[in-house]
Amino acid sequence: MPADRPALPGWKIAYPMLSADGSAVGFNGVALGRSQVYGTVAEAVCVQSSRHRCPSTWCDCGFYCFHDAEQARALACDEQYERSVLLEVLASGRYVSYELGLRYQRQTVRSVRVGRCRCGRTAAALDDVGGGVVGWRRLEPVCRECAGRRAVLSLATFGALSGVPVSVDEGSGYSAMAPLAPLGESGFPDTGRLRCDTADAPTAPSPEAEIPLLTAEVTLLQARLDELQRRLGRLTDQP
Ligand SMILES: [Zn+2]
Ligand SMILES: [Zn+2]
Repeated sequence: MPADRPALPGWKIAYPMLSADGSAVGFNGVALGRSQVYGTVAEAVCVQSSRHRCPSTWCDCGFYCFHDAEQARALACDEQYERSVLLEVLASGRYVSYELGLRYQRQTVRSVRVGRCRCGRTAAALDDVGGGVVGWRRLEPVCRECAGRRAVLSLATFGALSGVPVSVDEGSGYSAMAPLAPLGESGFPDTGRLRCDTADAPTAPSPEAEIPLLTAEVTLLQARLDELQRRLGRLTDQP
């Protein structure tokens, strides 16, 4: 039976939302909670009946969360939830406990973690991509490159409006995926030895391998700056 117990931490996924007038942010639940937008601190409401308190054992109402962040990340792998963000929450009030998580009455969002942009790069902001509900625009993580010059909501602004810290989700610390080593002149990854005959897993470029790339980029930028300064000098008649 649902019981009032001390608050418990949990993890869930949701869609970040921006109010139509742009003055407030909220979260839109996935699956069962698709029709509702809730704020940082919220009380569950039952859409089926107003005659019982949430969460009722006869109903599926209430907020849901997992005990473990990995379970929430696993759910976000499903195609229909992959644009969601990860929320760290505190569940309180009455709740029902399950093996993987809780169904509960009162929720406080403690932090927001955004995943990657659709293109795979690390997200830098939140973009309005349509698919909202009445009064609310739905946002999704977008990287600097894909955002280009379009108007997007910065993670800092979302954090200020929601009152909770927003950061990029770094995952659980283990990932088999890593950037490819840059290609050298030979066409093989420039790691100092040929890798074509080894069965090693690809590794991220070392800081040392990045130095020549960055140096080349700085030189290029400096040359471009010199050129622009020369043109500006010609236009303003200054040496
Ligand atoms: Zn209910
Ligand atoms: Zn992108």
